Amino acid sequence: VNGFSFIRGSDLDISLSMKLLQAKPVNEALRNEISTRVLAFSKEWNRKPHLTVVLVGQDPASQIYVAKKQETAAALGFSSETLVLPSNVDPSEVRALIQGLNSREDVDGILIQRPLPSVFKEEDVVYWIDPAKDVDAFHPENVGRLSLGLSSFFPCTPFGVMALLQHYEVPVAGKVACVIGRSSIVGKPMHALLLQANATVIHCHSKTQNLRSLTRQADIVVVAAGKPGLVDASYLQQGAVVIDVGIHRNAEGKIVGDVDFESAKAICSAITPVPGGVGPMTISMLLLNTLQAAESRCEAQSKAKTE
Ligand code: NAD
Repeated sequence: VNGFSFIRGSDLDISLSMKLLQAKPVNEALRNEISTRVLAFSKEWNRKPHLTVVLVGQDPASQIYVAKKQETAAALGFSSETLVLPSNVDPSEVRALIQGLNSREDVDGILIQRPLPSVFKEEDVVYWIDPAKDVDAFHPENVGRLSLGLSSFFPCTPFGVMALLQHYEVPVAGKVACVIGRSSIVGKPMHALLLQANATVIHCHSKTQNLRSLTRQADIVVVAAGKPGLVDASYLQQGAVVIDVGIHRNAEGKIVGDVDFESAKAICSAITPVPGGVGPMTISMLLLNTLQAAESRCEAQSKAKTE
């Protein structure tokens, strides 16, 4: 055996043992569990759990996302509606609409589809939805509850990452996890969830110096930087588990992530594909949050009646 074929052989061994962390089986298991619980809820409370989506404007990508949420909600036995408002609507009108939804008995979960037109100020909007119906978990009360380790809704994308890790039995407790990205919707809650699962978390962002030296210490690397191909094998230690949150369409029209998959797969022990990894988990987690909101609200109401 010459050196060359030996190297090729060992590369093959590594890639054969590399696990692809695909969403499909996780989603199948989760959606089975969700629809069973939805059925039990509907029998007990004589109504379906209900999600209301508020869509401002005509953004084509948002329209597709919202349609997908409605379709999956219906398939799992939820009732749902989308309230569409024109892009020039005054924020005060949307706020009033949400206040109405907050007090509607039959509405369990409310979601405001992002992005919103620029006249909407995110620092105001996050307060509009009642925390008990805030299934995106963006309300500062829910963000605070998560960071305090109190029971709460979890933001859907990092919650989906935790579901993937759990399904594929990736050990998290005591492991070093490195998160790249500190957005409020992915990076920060990802840090909080990994910490809650007893990982030692290294948190990197655009101002981090010597990123590679930090990611190479990690057993689990979660990349949510919004930069196609940012992480290649040189950022990883042998056997790392790689979670790629990024979604981009490249020059050839192909969907790619923040990780250079071809390079990373030779060194990691497991990796999420893009597409088909983190992305498809989000809607399941949203519906799980909605179901949880419905169950908690009904239990609280029934408890209040008996007291
Ligand atoms: P964002 O732009 O709000 O945040 C990106 C973060 O990455 C920032 O905190 C920034 O500090 C950090 N960053 C940027 N360049 C970096 C670099 N070179 N080195 C280290 N850190 C760097 O993005 P986001 O909303 O958190 O989304 C991140 C990616 O995840 C995007 O590609 C987005 O499309 C994707 N995304 C996917 C899902 C899903 O799968 N359901 C959901 C949300 C976002």
